[in-house]
Amino acid sequence: MANTTEKPKTETREFQAEVAKLLDLVVHSLYSNREIFLRELISNASDACDKLRYAALTDSKLLEDGSSEFAIHLSVDKAAKTLTISDNGVGMSHDELIANLGTIAKSGTAEFLKAAGDKGKGKDVNLIGQFGVGFYSAFMVADKVDVVSRKASEKQGWVWSSDGKGAFTVGEAENAPRGAHITLHMKPDAEEFLEPQRLRHVVKTYSDHIALPVILEPIPGDKKEGAEEAKAETLNSASALWMRYNSVVKPEEYLEFYHHVGHTFDEPWHALHFHAEGAIEYTALLFIPTEKPFDLFHPERKGHVKLYVNRVFISDQLEGLMPRYLRFVRGVVDSADLPLNISREMLQNNPTLRKIQNGITKRMLKDLKERAEKPEEYNVFWDSFGPVFKEGLYEDHERRDDLLELARFKSTAVEGLTSLKDYASRMKDGQEGIYYITGDNNAALKGSPQLEGFLDKGLEVLLLTDPIDEFWVATVGAYGKKPFKSVAESGTDLSAMKDGEKKDEAQSEPEEIKGLVEKLKATLGETVADVRISSRLTGSPVCLVADTGGMSLHLARMLQQHDESADKIRKVLEINPNHTLIKRLNTVDSATLNDIAHLLLDQARIVEGETVPDPIAFAKRLAAVMEKGLL
Ligand code: ADP
Ligand code: MG
Repeated sequence: MANTTEKPKTETREFQAEVAKLLDLVVHSLYSNREIFLRELISNASDACDKLRYAALTDSKLLEDGSSEFAIHLSVDKAAKTLTISDNGVGMSHDELIANLGTIAKSGTAEFLKAAGDKGKGKDVNLIGQFGVGFYSAFMVADKVDVVSRKASEKQGWVWSSDGKGAFTVGEAENAPRGAHITLHMKPDAEEFLEPQRLRHVVKTYSDHIALPVILEPIPGDKKEGAEEAKAETLNSASALWMRYNSVVKPEEYLEFYHHVGHTFDEPWHALHFHAEGAIEYTALLFIPTEKPFDLFHPERKGHVKLYVNRVFISDQLEGLMPRYLRFVRGVVDSADLPLNISREMLQNNPTLRKIQNGITKRMLKDLKERAEKPEEYNVFWDSFGPVFKEGLYEDHERRDDLLELARFKSTAVEGLTSLKDYASRMKDGQEGIYYITGDNNAALKGSPQLEGFLDKGLEVLLLTDPIDEFWVATVGAYGKKPFKSVAESGTDLSAMKDGEKKDEAQSEPEEIKGLVEKLKATLGETVADVRISSRLTGSPVCLVADTGGMSLHLARMLQQHDESADKIRKVLEINPNHTLIKRLNTVDSATLNDIAHLLLDQARIVEGETVPDPIAFAKRLAAVMEKGLL
């Protein structure tokens, strides 16, 4: 902002680099589905009216400088080839115009560019609204955009103007009415959007259930011969769809509404629409998307369900309306039993709100349980949202048992996914608990040396690859009476488990092996917590495991990635007493033993996906040992 007392009449500014890049993509690459620009601008206009309506609840003066009948007007000027979308909402100040339409505070653009780049040009222009960059879609159809805006409670209006090519101007506007008035100078190939039929159709398709009327002004010079005086025409039903009974809502109406509230363009995987009656009355219309929204894993873990009180929009960011582990749910909750005139913060802690949350969550979990009966369909849900849903195992004590029943896992025993119930039914006699291993991905886990003994004995192991797994598994502890047991933690003794033929071999520990353990301990010293004889290895000579009761290897690695200075935890090196390499180690001289001991430890680290701490020493030792092998 200029620091002189007088603002310059018109100033020119450059778009933030990210925005410029986005605009370049919008202008040059996105040609299909261009009509969604109207959905985005109407959606912004509707948001702006909602914001003002909410602010006016506590400050009614805000409505004095214009109509309190909120509406969105479309007007066409065929001669000038312009379409104007006007609202009487909250509007934007000088600085807001610059901040909102010139920079992007959110990470939206980068994410959008990535998605648009990933999925091929054109197709994913539909997503544009989801990324918080919907306004810029105007440049798909317009080669110049003017935004005249006056903020509620301010006297001076401003005009923002740009051709989308790197810069925009902001200057004073005379007599600007409250709200925002967006004029699109249509590109020659986008003049179809000056036709009433086209506008009617686009509004009906994408914005029918915007809760405000979208009104098409009579188009000058468009009057047909002999026709009546042209009248303003409301293009949408402007109804609060959620207040209707579900028996009368058509599937395509649900779909359009879902696209509107969810800012998405997929089919919902699930829809839940009900009116709760009794002590607290409320209506909920909720959707589970099919595809992951891009911000699913953002650290704020924001929800996206909109709260209305008696059809007045209150917030779409209210904590406490939905549990965080259901933050992928989109939709609307409306209740007349919540107080209108209190702050969002107070509302967040309102006991009625908590009861509503309880009610919605219960219904949602009940529906999920039903849908889980068709595993193929349910797996689609789980693939998209399982990692988030599992946060509930960690945080929602009250519903933990229900959530455990709904959770699904990859496992060594089945293709696809298994429930814990099914795992339990496959458990062997004498099996100590539910075995699991954690790591970054399936492929690496499946090859883990720690698994060998378990696979050999036909014991099923769950493969847990989500970061959250470390946390819930530690908190939950057990499924029913069956404890979760990590296969990568020392203290798991498999020698008691029957496995037929090979049983007796490793039973008695020959003195030499014990001697070798001592030698290895002496050689490796402080770099390991301990050296032990393993009952879990069959093919590999060694592996690393976490010390009993200590932090798991995977968790330790995650923490280290996060914070380089995190203490490295010392691990237990387990050796396979039946492996030829280990058996022969007793016969080598001490220099060779020293080399091989360190090489075995480094090898175990590599298998774990860790880096070798001293690559130069590693290479030297490897060369020395190979050289001896060639003699
Ligand atoms: P999003 O709507 O997801 O925030 P957009 O790119 O569509 O992203 O809009 C950017 C911002 O510009 C909005 O958040 C809002 O602050 C402002 N804005 C856009 N249109 C209007 C409008 N008609 N009235 C007031 N503010 C608006
Ligand atoms: Mg928007």
